[in-house]
Amino acid sequence: MLQVAFTMFGAAGALSAPIPKSPLVRDADQCMGSRAPLTRTLIYRKEATVTKLNVLKGGCHCGNLCLSLTTTLSPSKLNPRACDCSFCAKHAAMYVSDPSSRLVIDVKRIEALGKYRQGSKTVDLLFCKECGVLVAVVWEREGGASGAVNARCLNEYESLGEPVIVSPQKLNKAEKTARWETLWTKDVQVRVSDA
Ligand SMILES: [Zn+2]
Repeated sequence: MLQVAFTMFGAAGALSAPIPKSPLVRDADQCMGSRAPLTRTLIYRKEATVTKLNVLKGGCHCGNLCLSLTTTLSPSKLNPRACDCSFCAKHAAMYVSDPSSRLVIDVKRIEALGKYRQGSKTVDLLFCKECGVLVAVVWEREGGASGAVNARCLNEYESLGEPVIVSPQKLNKAEKTARWETLWTKDVQVRVSDA
């Protein structure tokens, strides 16, 4: 196979293939795989990129629950999802999440952390028993937790993208799970500061 490749690049029987003047590699060359001559070095220039992390802070009204969502997305790229189920509608809750982000919920007084389950009874809606504010939804499962934050509790609420209306209540359980897997923040930590 190699011999065949050499003959494609130069005179028959040549022991080395011509090296392109440009370090840029044409698409066709990249697809040669094992037929590429061994003497040739492909140079990939990776552009140096600096990833900016945005830390969106927020919390409940009385300060018992503090939120911190760390994401590479700018706030305008996060579109709050207004859930039309009867529970979220009563709270006017709208959720944001980014699968690659991290959500930390700091709890000052654990006895004032409320959890409510409705619908499929699979996920916990977290609220503050002191001031009554719904801050997030968390799906605890083996190996970790996923979740989404109530956009209205973020200090950056005004900078977020356009809200969209969603209707996950129309989905069956498997479809809901798949949705959470796709949309929700995969790294959620609930930290209790009092002991
Ligand atoms: Zn509170």
